[in-house]
Amino acid sequence: MTELLTRDACLARDADDPLRALRERFALPPGVVYLDGNSLGARPKASLARAQDVIAREWGNDLIKSWNTAGWFELPKRLGNRLAPLIGAHEGEVVVTDTTSLNLFKALAAALHLQANGPGAGRRTIVTERSNFPTDIYMAEGLAQWLDRGYRVRLVDSVEELPDAVDADCAVLMLTHVNYRTGYQHDMAALTGHAHAQGALALWDLAHSAGAVPVDLHAAQADFAVGCTYKYLNGGPGAPAFIWVPKRHQAAFAHPLTGWWSHAKPFAMAHGFAACEGIGRALCGTQPVLSLALVECGLEVFEETNMEAIRAKSLALTDLFIALVESRCAGHPLGLVTPREHARRGSQASFTHPHGYAVMAALIERGVIGDYREPEIMRFGFTPLYTSFADVWDAVEILKDILDRGAFDAALERGAVT
Ligand SMILES: *Cc1c(COP(=O)(O)O)cnc(C)c1O
Repeated sequence: MTELLTRDACLARDADDPLRALRERFALPPGVVYLDGNSLGARPKASLARAQDVIAREWGNDLIKSWNTAGWFELPKRLGNRLAPLIGAHEGEVVVTDTTSLNLFKALAAALHLQANGPGAGRRTIVTERSNFPTDIYMAEGLAQWLDRGYRVRLVDSVEELPDAVDADCAVLMLTHVNYRTGYQHDMAALTGHAHAQGALALWDLAHSAGAVPVDLHAAQADFAVGCTYKYLNGGPGAPAFIWVPKRHQAAFAHPLTGWWSHAKPFAMAHGFAACEGIGRALCGTQPVLSLALVECGLEVFEETNMEAIRAKSLALTDLFIALVESRCAGHPLGLVTPREHARRGSQASFTHPHGYAVMAALIERGVIGDYREPEIMRFGFTPLYTSFADVWDAVEILKDILDRGAFDAALERGAVT
């Protein structure tokens, strides 16, 4: 490892990097080391021309014809098919639509419905982790409360307690594959297998997995999945999310958001809802076409490589970052919260510091953009499509300088968005 710990060695790694050309596909501002692609992915250069085309030609010139001629109506399915290989899904099983929160609601409602109409009819518990991203828990609690049939959400405090929590009352095990704060990656196949053995269904949130780590939903025999496109998939701010329903569950897939886009004949304008066949059942209403169209620019870049190459570089980047922080910033009160074990690590590295918020603010001021999550966690996301080994070196040198000189304002107030 020591031969790696110079800037020249990092530059040499960049020269050997099979993904190095893909950085040119992104518009990154000069002088910035962007380590927040886990929160908002960088902009694919192609997105500007794509937005221009959607606005000027498809909307401006072709007007309403574009629902057909520009394929707007089919866009959620077409993008879903393009995204599918990144998560081990098949054609006709994914749509890009709505938000992660909404998709989670639909998938969870469908999973409860499936159990209620099968051998799991009496089961009333949704098991998840207290450390899950809050909206996932809020949505599950909201659904449980509004169904008013005795459903409850059980929050588990550690990975070790998860297996026992999936008991004879558990209807759904609902987990986020990679934890947003710590970067801990669950063993999807093992936990899904355990859930099935106990008679529960497994619903996975891939918000920090899609485009970040290899995912094989079919190999894991997962039941449902949702995730974001604006994080590692670089779809753009607020870009629509995705939902995966495997073919084996599609015929029984039902949820309360029965909007006209999931109707068998949406333009018949008929009285009474009749669900369409297939993955269209996961749709609800009209989508933000402009945002949706830009998701494609992010997905296109992934088609020039594969998740194995991305994973290899991701682990090399996070290994290097951890090694450099621990050697260059030794003596400062930094604590690694991300697993060292590769199999358990996502594509981020998080460190605690008693003044984490202030140190992150100082880093951002110096052009190193990560983010801060309560409590005390500085989060650094690594996106192999555009993060270089020299970026890692530069980020750690600036962190070292800030810490050595105490150049942060410990009394700093928190902003609205961190
Ligand atoms: C980012 C993220 C979300 C975001 O949900 P939105 O509905 O897009 O706001 C949800 N869940 C997890 C686990 C996330 O990481």
